Amino acid sequence: MLVSVEFADAGTKSGTHRVLIIGRGSEGPAPGDIGLSLEEAKTLMSAIQDEFVSAQAAEIVEARRRCSCGEKLAIKDWKLRRIHTTFGRVYLPSPRVMSCTCNSSRRRAISPLKGWLTRSTNELRFLAAKLASQHSVVRSNCANTQELGHLNESMT
Ligand SMILES: [Zn+2]
Repeated sequence: MLVSVEFADAGTKSGTHRVLIIGRGSEGPAPGDIGLSLEEAKTLMSAIQDEFVSAQAAEIVEARRRCSCGEKLAIKDWKLRRIHTTFGRVYLPSPRVMSCTCNSSRRRAISPLKGWLTRSTNELRFLAAKLASQHSVVRSNCANTQELGHLNESMT
């Protein structure tokens, strides 16, 4: 089964993108084999995330690739960037463009995605902090329970 996503308003990335083919062999589904499995859903979300991040980046690059004088900035090279997201790692080709010399500054390579790209998403950092605090509470409760156990032992 082919899964595609369609971006209607994503600039150069608008259109239909093939995301994933989900197949379960030639025998057909077994009784109770209904819908997506957890693994298939994870793979699908990861594939959609790849397309989504790529479309977001393309929009930003397109908007920032034009100098205020109207000159379209040439791409110098590409670097592969790794981003940790809630739905898995995304590898994004990130361009560097040559700056314009219209304001008599020296030509240099700049990244249109600078300021937007981070090593991990805000949501992932938030979830990691939340899980860490919950883990801390559980550890604290365990320590308190142990202390009560010692207290009970010493009282008997
Ligand atoms: Zn310029």
